Amino acid sequence: MTDAPQIPVRVRPAIAALPPYRQGRQAGADAFKLSSNENPFDPLPGVIAAMQSATAVNRYPDAGAARLAQRLADRFGVEPDEVHIAAGSVSILSQLVLATSGPGDEVVYAWRSFEAYPGLAVVAGATSVAVPLTADFRHDLDAMVEAITDRTRVVIVCTPNNPTGPIITQAEFEQFIDRVPGDVLVILDEAYAEFVTDPDAVDGMRLLGGTRRDNLVVLRTFSKAYGLAGLRIGYAVGHARVLDAARTTGIPLSVTAPAEAAALASLDAEAELRERITVIAERRDRLAEGLRAAGWSVPEAQGNFVWLPAGEHAVDVAAAFDAGGLVVRPFAGDGVRITVGEEESVEKVLRIAASVVKDLP
Ligand code: PMP
Repeated sequence: MTDAPQIPVRVRPAIAALPPYRQGRQAGADAFKLSSNENPFDPLPGVIAAMQSATAVNRYPDAGAARLAQRLADRFGVEPDEVHIAAGSVSILSQLVLATSGPGDEVVYAWRSFEAYPGLAVVAGATSVAVPLTADFRHDLDAMVEAITDRTRVVIVCTPNNPTGPIITQAEFEQFIDRVPGDVLVILDEAYAEFVTDPDAVDGMRLLGGTRRDNLVVLRTFSKAYGLAGLRIGYAVGHARVLDAARTTGIPLSVTAPAEAAALASLDAEAELRERITVIAERRDRLAEGLRAAGWSVPEAQGNFVWLPAGEHAVDVAAAFDAGGLVVRPFAGDGVRITVGEEESVEKVLRIAASVVKDLP
């Protein structure tokens, strides 16, 4: 007899050792849920109507979400086969890592960054190589280039970085990708791109036109700025053959017709959504400035969230917010991420943050 837990089927040891995905906690009726970087606005009426008009749910959806792919291709000045749509951009991350990396291969990413990255490497059987952020919570792009070996198949870069907030500039990114070997895939995860107000920030789509880098895939999502997190729809833009590899490893038909219809309707409602994005970005700036004034060293915040570098106090700090009716996301030993939510939550965040900071040693 061994002490190993009894598993009725033989699960790969690497998978058995991996914790399953844990969602940001749901909030009670009287609390604000600021733990999952969601959009606090209700869906637009046109989006609901479009979803409801996608009634032929007895039929499978269009496998490539062709109408949306065409629409995004027109928008970004690429061909439809240079756009790939899937059930959330996290699905595309998984597809790309599976397509490129297996046992012995290396997946390089910054840390701390989006929690899914290390797990995706493990699932693929690849080796995960985490490159620490700089002291001001930015990607250390030089160190990331240095971490690339003959075994590296993918480098994932996240801007603005979830959960810490800073962007990578266009100049920094261009210098970086010029130093990455052309057979290494660079995934530029721009899940929060629409919230960015820093004019120097990288816009990956600008590198996909004339001066394209064939090893670059830019990831975006309808979950954040477009407020469709519950529908699960995201997209990638890049070289058609690279995206074919993602289409091959992906589960077919996972983008539903209501999700595609809602995404198209969101693109139709761009002006209204832009106004909402502006409101969230202004709220974010107010929050970040208020937190700094209270004594927190909040790094540059360019997504729809702010980062409190609470270090070893992260869990206690999050508990204090929780007790005050704000569900936030602690990263044990590191910090607390607070989503920019409803207007009424801003004052509450600032009040609790100001009182908590006084209790810290
Ligand atoms: N990338 C980053 C950096 C994220 O923070 C998230 C969501 N938290 C995703 C990708 C995945 O988003 P989705 O699957 O909802 O498109």
